[in-house]
Amino acid sequence: MDKLPTHLEKILRVTEYDDRGTMSGNIVCDCGCKTFGIKYFGEVYPPHVIGVRKMGENRYSCVVKAVCRNCAKEWLLFDYSKHAYDGFICEDGVTVSDDKLINAAAGDERDFEIEISIEFDDEEQFTEEVIGLDERDFTPNDRFNIWSWVVINLKCAKSGKKLKDFVNIELA
Ligand SMILES: [Zn+2]
Repeated sequence: MDKLPTHLEKILRVTEYDDRGTMSGNIVCDCGCKTFGIKYFGEVYPPHVIGVRKMGENRYSCVVKAVCRNCAKEWLLFDYSKHAYDGFICEDGVTVSDDKLINAAAGDERDFEIEISIEFDDEEQFTEEVIGLDERDFTPNDRFNIWSWVVINLKCAKSGKKLKDFVNIELA
């Protein structure tokens, strides 16, 4: 079975997968619902692009969460301090508390379908560059959790309007 990022195991329905370093899929809540509100923190580039926000000297943040419109469960999709190669391995990421998150809206639409694509190291590269060099105890499976690129595309549930590259950030 395809190995998924730990925090997306229950909600990522894979559409494309390459063990050497890319995967894409749709987010579906474990209740079956495909429609979510989006809460985020980051640098905002209007109308609908979120980037990494500078928080201080060599400190950056970006967080995206999905809130199920059926059961109200909240799912973390991306936190720069946890899932970005630079933010986590190089430790330049900081997280933010939930009260800093903003609800995404496109006009009066606040319900979205979510598509996510990520890039990560292949096993050889991860073993050499992370497991071999980092003092923390990483295992080969950690490479699925530490990304070099993330793209999140949204689609308005009502109008079908697409917010392409809502997030599109190089992370390494
Ligand atoms: Zn749900």
